[in-house]
Amino acid sequence: MKKYIGCDLGGTNLRAAIVDVENGAVLHQLSIPTLARDSHDLIMKRMADLFLQVIQFAGMNLEDIGGIGIGVPGVLDLENGETLFLPNLPGTWPHVPLQATIENRTGLPTRLLNDVRSITHGEWLFGAGRGMETIAVLAIGTGIGGGLVINGQLHLGIGGTGGELGHTTINFNGPRCGCGNHGCLETYASGPAISAAGVKAVAQGLTTRIGEFCDYDLNRITPELIAKAAQAGDEIAKDIYEKAGYYIGITAANICVALGPRRIVIAGGVAQAGELLLDPIHRTLLERVHVMPVEQVEVVPSQLGDDAGVIGVACWAAKKS
Ligand SMILES: [Zn+2]
Repeated sequence: MKKYIGCDLGGTNLRAAIVDVENGAVLHQLSIPTLARDSHDLIMKRMADLFLQVIQFAGMNLEDIGGIGIGVPGVLDLENGETLFLPNLPGTWPHVPLQATIENRTGLPTRLLNDVRSITHGEWLFGAGRGMETIAVLAIGTGIGGGLVINGQLHLGIGGTGGELGHTTINFNGPRCGCGNHGCLETYASGPAISAAGVKAVAQGLTTRIGEFCDYDLNRITPELIAKAAQAGDEIAKDIYEKAGYYIGITAANICVALGPRRIVIAGGVAQAGELLLDPIHRTLLERVHVMPVEQVEVVPSQLGDDAGVIGVACWAAKKS
């Protein structure tokens, strides 16, 4: 069976992995800086070169590769193989024919997929969602991405835009979100929102060890540092995670009511806080959901870590080729 390339187009790094789509193993991989300020033409050339390099690096030939999947951080038009809006890349890439450009440069069939839908697909096939009919994934990082598998199929919606769970409204009078809406989950529980809560607590002079943990340099406050303070018993830090988990739990409760998933998978850097975050999400579900058997819904951490996206999108390319 041919191998597939899974690519993660990140704002910082460009990663290409050769994946065995039968077992989800990452066989070889290369990573280079994206240099996102360059023109998209230059970045796409760099991507195509990277794909050819990783094939060579693996000691393989073009004929050994069935195709390429690219996980893209933003809104896509899957029907036309174009990027529409990549909020974290300079220029935002409106109507860039990424799929055709990579196909022309490499000669390999190429498929695009949103980056968190790629993670969702990977976790469903080989990770925390394995064997489940219906799951939801929330990836908590700089933003909050999402993805859904419904009745044994990755859910796409119009042009692949379905599943943006971080932009579900949890407070209709809430602060403006980067997407233009008000009160999205992302404005309450993303990594920057958690950091900001830590900064605020220290600036207000609350009794918290967060200040001590960052040597009173507020720029050094991260979700990870707040998690460390919480694990050391700091009540304010614990409360910050408790609130973030509560907000995520509200969105998770809405997902439970809408879809009846077996599992809700929490991925992304902030998920490394583990039970600090998972506990309040689960508690909120139990408190709020009464119209479906919520005790059967598991809230679990992702299993494939940084590899989930490249595995998921390589398998997606294999499915679509
Ligand atoms: Zn939003």
